[in-house]
Amino acid sequence: MPVQCSSCACSRAVLKRPKTGHSLCKGCFFWAFEEETHRTITSARLFDRGETVAIGASGGKDSTVLAYVLKVLNERYDYGLNLLLLSVDEGITGYRDHSLEAVKRNQQQYDLPLKIVSYEELYGWTMDAIVKQVGVKNNCTFCGVFRRQALDRGAVMLNVDKICTGHNADDVAETVLMNVLRGDVARLNRCTAVSTAGGGSDGVVPRCKPLKYAYEKEIVLYAYFKKLHYFSTECVYSPNAYRGHARAFLKDLEAVRPSAIADVIHSGENLSLKEGVKMPVQGTCSRCGYISSQALCKSCVLLEGLNRGLPKLGIGKHHRLHGRILARQPLTPVEEEKMKTLEF
Ligand code: SF4
Ligand code: ZN
Repeated sequence: MPVQCSSCACSRAVLKRPKTGHSLCKGCFFWAFEEETHRTITSARLFDRGETVAIGASGGKDSTVLAYVLKVLNERYDYGLNLLLLSVDEGITGYRDHSLEAVKRNQQQYDLPLKIVSYEELYGWTMDAIVKQVGVKNNCTFCGVFRRQALDRGAVMLNVDKICTGHNADDVAETVLMNVLRGDVARLNRCTAVSTAGGGSDGVVPRCKPLKYAYEKEIVLYAYFKKLHYFSTECVYSPNAYRGHARAFLKDLEAVRPSAIADVIHSGENLSLKEGVKMPVQGTCSRCGYISSQALCKSCVLLEGLNRGLPKLGIGKHHRLHGRILARQPLTPVEEEKMKTLEF
């Protein structure tokens, strides 16, 4: 027997909400999803009227749904925001070139300006070239560090007030778990924040995550029923293995208890650090001027390693070498030998 929508009671339910278990019709699900995003935005005061906001757009489901919903809410509630799309081209043949096609389609459909910044123009390296040098074991370290900075640099070029990203509840819960597993208290402390002020370790431009409480499964359902175009293939250089374990663990938990995702986020939000825990002090990179807690930012060290043919230079902790790198002095033959290969 067909199930009635538990919200309007006049249409047939087409789905069971993964987050709440409610049976809803399409219209009531769209409304619930959009209103929850609106509540996240208003309760945390993510935006101010008149701001220019760059939506980090990868062409994937999260940023596609984010761009669509923000456009809807900006009109419905007259936020008065000037929205635009900002994409990073990592230079991954067979992956990013295809997903950027999805972004370009969205740009036309949603009628939003689009800016693409590439690793090649910013760093002189594509991920294809980086993988040739470093292999596929540590490639995501390079990619993640470069992407965070590239998004920031693009936002500065466009003179935007804020960047918003499509991180969803599953992403945030995964990050909480990863930081617990790595014992990274500095990151654990801030990874659940729905917004960060500029100038911190997340970048120069303030960032926010309007989909922080949206379950991944609901984002997929929203995109499916709205018939949004997105690109869903995995990166050809394989996902970060460590995050993969946290993801698999979380999915197992979610299968038994759907609230597990929200519960992990809640735990992350409420953990506090004991007094006396040392936190990194933010300064600026002596080479590029980007924020950094060391003499050189992570991007500059990774880049230096690539340019010197010493890829291991930026992996792990080699702070003691920063002074010599800055002075453009050579390393000793023993040090060079150690930094040459990533097979460790
Ligand atoms: Fe970059 Fe790794 Fe993500 Fe591929 S999987 S886009 S290499 S971070
Ligand atoms: Zn730097």
